[in-house]
Order: sequence, then C-alpha cells, then structure tokens
Amino acid sequence: MKPPVGIVSASGALLEDEKGNHYIDAVSSWWVNIHGHAHPYIAEKIYEQALKLEHVIFTGFTHEPAVRLAERLLQMLPGNFSRIFYSDNGSTAVEVALKMALQFWRNQSKFQGQRLTRTKIVAFKNAYHGDTFGAMSVSERGVFTKPFHDYLFDVVFIDTPTKGNISTLKEYFTSNAGEIACFIYEPLLQAAGGMLIHEAAWLDELLKAAHSSQIICIADEVLTGFGRTGKWFASDFLRQQAEIICLSKGITGGTMALGVTACNSKIFEAFLSDDREGSFFHGHSFTANPLACAAANASLDLLEKESCRKQLENLVESNRAFMKKLRHQNFSGSIENLRMCGTVLAFDIKSQNSGYLSGIAKQITEFSFQKGIYLRPLGNTVYIMPPYCITEVQLGSLYNHLMEICTMFSGGAK
Ligand SMILES: *Cc1c(COP(=O)(O)O)cnc(C)c1O
Repeated sequence: MKPPVGIVSASGALLEDEKGNHYIDAVSSWWVNIHGHAHPYIAEKIYEQALKLEHVIFTGFTHEPAVRLAERLLQMLPGNFSRIFYSDNGSTAVEVALKMALQFWRNQSKFQGQRLTRTKIVAFKNAYHGDTFGAMSVSERGVFTKPFHDYLFDVVFIDTPTKGNISTLKEYFTSNAGEIACFIYEPLLQAAGGMLIHEAAWLDELLKAAHSSQIICIADEVLTGFGRTGKWFASDFLRQQAEIICLSKGITGGTMALGVTACNSKIFEAFLSDDREGSFFHGHSFTANPLACAAANASLDLLEKESCRKQLENLVESNRAFMKKLRHQNFSGSIENLRMCGTVLAFDIKSQNSGYLSGIAKQITEFSFQKGIYLRPLGNTVYIMPPYCITEVQLGSLYNHLMEICTMFSGGAK
C-alpha cells in the first residue's frame, strides 16, 4: 500500500502536496467542499468568531452564530420545519433523526394514550446513512458493515421507486402503516451506494403514501444539501416534504464538522412534557460549536451570492453538455449507465469484477493522480463531484481526463 500523500495547502479546487504538485480535487474532498479550499471569506469569519467565542456548553446557553444559522436554515429549507437540532457530523445528524422518530411514537403511546407504538424502520436498498451503529443499521449491508452485522438492528429495505414498482411500494406502506415508525431516504441521489439516481416523480408518489399512513419521513440530505443537485436541496425538486431532515457535509462549505437535524412542529411538540422521560436526551460535547456555526453562516453568505448561483448553473450546464458528448461516443461499449444529478456526473466501467473492492478504482485513482487529478471511483463507478468554484479550464481538463479513461478501457486495458 502506498503511503498517504502530504497535502500542505489548497486553494479553490486545487490541492498542493509537499513536493509542490497540484491536483484538481474532483471529489470535493469526499463531497464536503463547495466554495473551494481555504476560502478567505470563510477563514476570516472563523477567525473573527474564534477571537470572540470559540465554544460554550449549549444547554442553558445559546449564542448568536447558532441562532442566526438556525433562522436562516428554517427560511431556506423546503417544507415546514420549525426547529433545528445541532450535532457534529452527518452520521450523528442521522442518529438524532432516528431517535426523534422512534421516541415520537413512544411518547405518543406513553403520553397521548395511543395504544400501539410503531417500531419498524424502512430504508432504501443501497442506502448509505453513515458509520455509527444506527446509521449503519439503516444502510445497505456490505463490506463496510460486515464485521458488525450481528449488532445492527433490523430494518426493512425497499427498492427505490420506479414506474414499474411504485404501486407495490405504496401498497407496502399502506398495508403496514400501523407498524412503520419512519422511512429514511436519500432524495434523488444515493451517492455512496454508487451514484444511483431515482426520479423525483416516483419518490413524490411514495412520500405521499407514507404521509397518508402517518409514517414519519426522514430526508437524509447530508450529501444532497446546499446545491449538490443543482437546487439548494434535492427536496426542492419534490412536492412532498419530510418531517425530519438531516444536513452536514456542505453546510460549512466543507471547512468544519457540523451536523443539523431539523424537524417540524408536530415532531417537536411530542417531546413537550412535564415528565422528564418524554425529553429528547441527546447531546454532544461540541453541539452547535460557534466556530462551525460561523463557518456555516459564511458559507451561506457565499451560497446566496449571484456569482455562486452562476457557478452552479454553469457546472450543471457543462455536465449536461459533456454527458451528451460522451453519449455520442461508443467506447466499444466499455462504459454504461451514464448519468448525472446536478453537479454530479457518473458512469460505470463494464467489468467482470465490479463492486467496491474491484481493482479498477485503485487503477484509475493512480492513473489520475499522475495527471494532476484526484478521482476516487466507487468500485467500477467513475464520477466527478467538484467544488462549485471549479474554473472552466479545470473542468475542461477533468472532462478530457474522463474521456481518456473511457478510451483506455475501450482499448481493453484491465
Ligand atoms: C456522508 C454521508 C453521511 C455521513 O456523514 P458523515 O459526516 O461522514 O458522518 C450520511 N448520509 C449521507 C447521505 C452521506 O452522504
């Protein structure tokens, strides 16, 4: 195994290693970066905040960066969210959401006199919701989770909705309504599952069925939030909205760890009780860290700018044009499932040994690295997910490089 590469600095979409080599960060440092690395405006806001208040316990206390961020998020989010719960990464945002949903039903039976507690959790096949135990439990079982299978709780995994299966899926929700506590989903794009895309129209149908069966819907927008899909949230493509939404990754522009779980007032009110047992007991040492909140507020400032909207638009348009171009080549049939979702473009390399541990990914990463590009395929799925600030020239090099990869595999390379 090769030793890790020492990165000493980064700027925009470029990483610089200790030997002075530059690499285009085509995966936004595992999907978190949106405005570019070491952004001076975000850095300044973090610095200013660090001189004022770096951290304070967030129970019995509050602070301006957290309040301001909460108010802004509630304005932005599609749906009827009324409360923000802070944690410190995407997995914890998911844990919080699951705990909220399960305790919601428990509180209903304990305090509202409802006879039955709903306990079942439904998730999509190929889902990825994080690496902690609850998050692993609602994720597709695979090589990452294998050592822990005996310790993960049971979840019902259903197919992502299509025209062909939508009535079966809806029927499943309707006929099991009394038992299903919640349904967690990554709207439109399952990234870690292999950049899999499903259509908004069918997801809308499914959510409608979930709502009419009182199933709590949890949108995991940890990845899709803050512009990744071309709109601010993937849920902006939908008519049906979740009761709980999870955010992280791009929320701070990719500079600091922060998790957010938002819920609507129906969920919130189920926790209002004089009995302490009804409370939502969940907290992390760094809950609502002021530096992270300041970074998030700064990132939102940038996101709201006309120039950022333009960057996003250009990136999505360029992806669309490039996809068209790729489609017209045939590469001896060596690539398949060409697809895009906003800023993300992906295709699969046809191969006998697919899957996350296939050798193709490593081969492509190494080949790309020599060309000054950082790519990290998921098994045989090659994708790009650049920061929105990537320049036209850098994006051009990225596309040329993808063409080269396609050509390489059509030439029978292993
Ligand atoms: C990355 C990711 C998570 C986990 O977030 P971490 O911050 O890595 O714990 C959860 N859900 C989705 C959809 C993700 O892409």
